[in-house]
Amino acid sequence: MAERYDLVVIGAGPGGYVAAIRAAQLGLKVACVEKADALGGTCLRIGCIPSKALLDSSELYHLAEAKFSKHGIKLDNLGIDLPTMHKRKDQVVKGLTDGVAFLFRKNKITPVFGAAKLTSPTTVRVTGNDGKDVDLEAGHILLATGSAPINLPFLPFDGKTVVSSTEALAFDAVPKHLVVVGGGAIGLELGSVWRRLGAKVTVIEFLPRIVPSSDVEIGEALRKSLAKQGLEFHLETKVSGAAIKPDGAIVKATNAKGEELEFPCDKILVSVGRRAYTEGLDLDKAGVKADPKTGKVPVDEHFRTNVPTISALGDLIAGPMLAHKAEDEGVAFAELLVGKAGHVDYNTIPNVVYTWPELASVGRTEEQLKEEGVPYRVGKSMFMANGRAKAMDEVEGVVKLLAHAETDRLLGAHIVGARASDMIAELVAVMEFGGSAEDVARTSHAHPTLSEVVREAAMAVDKRAISG
Ligand code: FAD
Repeated sequence: MAERYDLVVIGAGPGGYVAAIRAAQLGLKVACVEKADALGGTCLRIGCIPSKALLDSSELYHLAEAKFSKHGIKLDNLGIDLPTMHKRKDQVVKGLTDGVAFLFRKNKITPVFGAAKLTSPTTVRVTGNDGKDVDLEAGHILLATGSAPINLPFLPFDGKTVVSSTEALAFDAVPKHLVVVGGGAIGLELGSVWRRLGAKVTVIEFLPRIVPSSDVEIGEALRKSLAKQGLEFHLETKVSGAAIKPDGAIVKATNAKGEELEFPCDKILVSVGRRAYTEGLDLDKAGVKADPKTGKVPVDEHFRTNVPTISALGDLIAGPMLAHKAEDEGVAFAELLVGKAGHVDYNTIPNVVYTWPELASVGRTEEQLKEEGVPYRVGKSMFMANGRAKAMDEVEGVVKLLAHAETDRLLGAHIVGARASDMIAELVAVMEFGGSAEDVARTSHAHPTLSEVVREAAMAVDKRAISG
């Protein structure tokens, strides 16, 4: 007989596992189905965490190679031990996926390993790796099956030469020349990793700029910094295919002038975005509708699909494909399910590109405010003028704040610079509270810290920055 649960979650990524934990905290009997052999989803296994582990390792190598001598630190025989770097990354991943398993035990959530499919609006069949089926009955079902990399039909993944982020996180040798197709966060982060470790890296982007959703000025500042580090950019350039050879490939592309370009390389990372993933879920068996174009599952403000007993969240639904967005939705979903007032403020979800310098932003860009006709004032401050940035030798970067011209309410914050990912949190909190640039300007910031650049930018909104 099928085991009955109040909630069956399909997918143990940041959306699914957070929803499962919050629902269990609220007293529900929960099972979470995962088809991979570890919990944690794309984020923990093949996304956020392993990419940051490699970014941190490669950053240390880059510092040792390019910056230590400036600090008066001498090193001989610097080298790269890639297997050890990957081993450390794998240990970081394992520590965190085991951590989710621990949290499941602590909250009495039943993990079920296998591929789930819907058999009705309240039943799920899980086919385990041993081929055996288990049926689960649910008061409510949550779809949190996430996303998968977009495959270009004219440049299909082969797992060896034409790869997705998953394989680019595990190259067993530093490529001589890596071509990255797509100038978004994932391509730039993994491009940075391999550039720092010695690869020539060429980024080809169809649009006129990288990180297309960012504030234009801030995105361009990041591009310039990355170009200085040796990443080569070809913007407004359309990849049309590649000739695959036994030891590499020649990528073919056309630039804005109509010139045909060729890029001989040994690896091609295709990172042109991700698509909602519902393969094998049998949505139709339960009557759940997905957008035929995007594959995304439409939901209402309670995360309910068109079938009242089935909800969806995370990368599977509309909005930015980010782990913290999925987590926020997980908490809100569980709270709404038990009649509490769960809520996600989509205007204050930060976005970070973990290159060096980092790019971090929240809220409206200057371009969006112009388009929306919202009157605004801009305050900017450069890292160059900051004492801590100078001490760290990290003087590249700028904080740009956008405040409403009449009310001074903070509408957007954009940072390119060292530790931008940590500094954005202050501005997210101020925006959550409906705060103003003046609020930030009048808040004491420890000296000397990079966060003083944020305060100076807030002062600059009112044209009274101290540092110029
Ligand atoms: P996922 O994490 O994708 O989890 C879905 C889970 O469902 C998977 O484990 C999958 O195996 C499982 N599943 C699917 N179908 C079934 C089925 N039928 N039965 C059982 N299980 C199933 N985001 C950030 O915020 N910050 C970052 O720094 C960042 N870096 C990234 C780097 C890379 C290289 C990648 C690829 C992504 C990155 N992301 C980052 C995005 C982030 O990983 C996703 O937004 C996030 O994982 C989405 O969470 P989710 O719970 O919706 O889905």
